Amino acid sequence: MSATGAGHNADLIVINGRVRTMDDDNPAAEAVAVKDGAVMAIGSRASIEEFKGPATKVIDAKGGSVLPGFIEAHMHLFSGGAELAHLQLTGIHGFEALQKAIRDYAPTRPDAEMLVGQGVDYTVLGSERVTRHHLDAILPDRPFCMAAPDHHTMWANTKALEMAGIQQGRTLGPGNEIVMGDDGLAAGELREGEAFGPVLDLAGEGRVRLGLSTGGEPDPMPTAAERDADRDIMRRGLAWCARHGITSIQNMDGNLYQLELLAEIEAEEGLPCRVRIPFHYKNFMTLDMLDKASSMAERYNSEWLSSGMVKVFYDGVLDSWTAVMVEPYADRPDWVGEPLFTPQQFIDLAVAVDRRGLQIAVHSIGDGAVRAVLDGYEAAQKANGKRDSRHRVEHIEVTTTADVPRFAELGVIASMQPPHPPGAMDFPLEPTVSRIGPARWPLSYAWRTLKDAGAHVVFASDWPVSPIDPILGIQAAVLRKPWAESDPDQSFSLHEAIAGYTIEGAYAEFAEHRKGTLKSGYMADLVVLSMDIENTAPADLHKVRPVTTICGGKVTYQA
Ligand SMILES: [Zn+2]
Repeated sequence: MSATGAGHNADLIVINGRVRTMDDDNPAAEAVAVKDGAVMAIGSRASIEEFKGPATKVIDAKGGSVLPGFIEAHMHLFSGGAELAHLQLTGIHGFEALQKAIRDYAPTRPDAEMLVGQGVDYTVLGSERVTRHHLDAILPDRPFCMAAPDHHTMWANTKALEMAGIQQGRTLGPGNEIVMGDDGLAAGELREGEAFGPVLDLAGEGRVRLGLSTGGEPDPMPTAAERDADRDIMRRGLAWCARHGITSIQNMDGNLYQLELLAEIEAEEGLPCRVRIPFHYKNFMTLDMLDKASSMAERYNSEWLSSGMVKVFYDGVLDSWTAVMVEPYADRPDWVGEPLFTPQQFIDLAVAVDRRGLQIAVHSIGDGAVRAVLDGYEAAQKANGKRDSRHRVEHIEVTTTADVPRFAELGVIASMQPPHPPGAMDFPLEPTVSRIGPARWPLSYAWRTLKDAGAHVVFASDWPVSPIDPILGIQAAVLRKPWAESDPDQSFSLHEAIAGYTIEGAYAEFAEHRKGTLKSGYMADLVVLSMDIENTAPADLHKVRPVTTICGGKVTYQA
């Protein structure tokens, strides 16, 4: 490359855009030039067109917003990719509608060993709880199961329960339950992964679920054909991310196998998104198994594929009373949930992971779980000394006044999902809001309260739990309404919501000096939108669509 001529030319320029850099020193511009995977310059159209050479690709943003590529800070790439092929039951209500959806779908999958539905509301049959008998009435002769949007509960018909060998129930670990009927047989409702794992394994997606269910590796080793099929699932998931403007993924389940599949794709054709895959530590593991987390972090540490994080589940979810609360559930006064670790076990784990210099991310939905996890981070700081650890608490659906300031004090990231508050997007108000109870509403999904208390708040979809679309998440954050007039306003401004999907996401992976804002020398990760997002009414934000996604200077999606 010469110092003049072609050396001065950009690989790609985006012109005619409303560039919102998320960089306070240079917030707005018209155009961006990109070269060798990095942002070369940001400025007026005229100044950027100076970098246009004969081989420069020109993208006309046509007045649409140009933002840093979205950073998805909590999602499940492999299972999300697999679920794109399942029956989608989001928004289905009533027996008739459910019956029609399932009966229309079944004939389209004549060879499926297990038919799987996704995204069915807990209240799909109103106040009546779904049982196997409902599903038998719809589909008696083929095995069928369907998952709640939060993926913490599934319902199966009798055929599926029989084939999985769980019709008589089974002893499971804490927090997991095969709900039994009055007849002494499984009723059809399966709470948490150990309960529904045997059913889902029949769907032939055992390898997909490993990163979530056990954190372990496929055994036996997948055949070449199985590995090909798994790479295709990953590719499908990655393409789904790129088409939604996402350029970086922080995955929240994982194992070495997922990293290997992604490395193979990277070697073959390059990755369309940067991916971070954690080691998943489960409560049946011992601390010496963290050696694997350290070796994953050492082996994978590029800008495209990295590890360096340990994911943990401390509790379950509110809707199945498996989230851990400080005070009893409002609708179950003798019950506070059951943690997946004892507080002391978690403290020992946090100290051990922190000592290895790894980041920790813990699913903690109830205020009791949030508190125990913060206690663990505090203990780690005492034991190992304070460092820039950026440990994370995932979800934080309920918290307490006492714990809110601890996020900033301990330097802990609040990782939250704007689509998740009941009533915000796809999740209905009930049963969740009654389960939480009005006394706890003010500090439920309290991202404004946490941000005002100095916490870094990072946003995500938790896809496939919620639709992956960051723009829908931004809209949900902006339109957030309290459940009672006396509750505090937890909504974010548009700028704050975009920051949750860009600069804060970069911070969450120690990369805020390389991405998350558009700045000269930063990674050329950006998204061109169909409209000017700043001049769109909040109610219309969902109409704003990604038109072009660019990651590392390469176009990864074009509408
Ligand atoms: Zn998740």
